[in-house]
Amino acid sequence: MQAFYHRDYYFPLPEGHPFQMEKFPGGHAIVAREGRGITLRPAEPVTPGQLARVHTPAYLEKVRTHAWVGSERTRMGLPADPRLFARCASECGGTLQAGRAALAEGIAANLGGGTHHAAADRASGFCLFNDVAVALRALRVEHPDLFVFVLDTDAHQGDGTHALFSTDPRVFTYSIHVGRNFPARKVPGDCDVPLERYADGPTYLDALRRTLETAFLAFEPDLVFWVAGADVHRDDRFGQLCLDREAIESRNRFVLDLVRSWQVPLAIVYGGGYNREVALTNRLHAEPVLRAGERR
Ligand SMILES: [Zn+2]
Repeated sequence: MQAFYHRDYYFPLPEGHPFQMEKFPGGHAIVAREGRGITLRPAEPVTPGQLARVHTPAYLEKVRTHAWVGSERTRMGLPADPRLFARCASECGGTLQAGRAALAEGIAANLGGGTHHAAADRASGFCLFNDVAVALRALRVEHPDLFVFVLDTDAHQGDGTHALFSTDPRVFTYSIHVGRNFPARKVPGDCDVPLERYADGPTYLDALRRTLETAFLAFEPDLVFWVAGADVHRDDRFGQLCLDREAIESRNRFVLDLVRSWQVPLAIVYGGGYNREVALTNRLHAEPVLRAGERR
C-alpha cells in the first residue's frame, strides 16, 4: 500500500493558532515508524489546469496572491501566507496520487487532505482547495465513467464537496456529522446523517451502520474517497462528538471491512482533527492508514 506525504504540508503558524499544522509531519512520522506494508512516497503538486477543473480563475488568483478581504480571511481560518498555494496544491496532489494508486492496487492514502469545506470560489474552515474534487476531476480525464463514492465521517458536513457534485450523477456524497455544528449552512448531499451534538460512540456507530452500507450498495462505486476525520474524538476542540479511541477504531474497522468486502478501491484522506494534544491528533489520523496497511 502506498501513502503520500509532502513536506510542504507544514509550515509554522502563530502561537496558539487552533489549526495544528504539525499534524502532517506528525502523522507521517507515525506511519514511517509503525506502518507495516506501507510504502511512503512524496506527493507532487497538482497543476494549475487540474485546479481549474474545480476552482474559478478569480479564486485561484486570490489564493495565489493571498488577496483575502476581511470576512474571506475569517472564513478561510488560516493566516494569509504566500506558501498556502503550494501547500494546498501538494495536498490535492497527494489525494490524486492516492486515488490513482487505489485504482491500480486497491487501497492507498494521502497523509493529509480531506479539505471538504472548500467550494469552487471560496475557502472555508481551513480548506482552500477541495482536494477530493480536484483529484476526482483529474481522474475523470483518464476514467470518464468512474462512479465515485465520497464517504465523509469527519465531524463536520462536507458542504463544499456536496456543492461541487450536486449535479453529478456519477458521484455519491455521504456525510455523517453533527447536525448543529460548523458549517452553519449545510449543503445537501446524496445521503446526510446528522447527529445530535455530543453523540457518543454507540449512537454514532449505530447511525453509521444503519445508513452507510445501504447507500454504498445502491450506488455500486468504482472508487471510494474516505474523508476519515479525527475530530470525532471526545476531546476534540471543534468536533462536538464524544467518541473514545475504541469507538473510532470500530468506525475505522467498519469502513475498511465494508469497502474491502466489496473489493472497491479505497483512497483514505485525513479530514479534520483538533485535539488539544497534537500527539493524539497525529495518532488518530495515522490509525486508519496503519490499519489499512496491515490488511494488505
Ligand atoms: Zn471536521
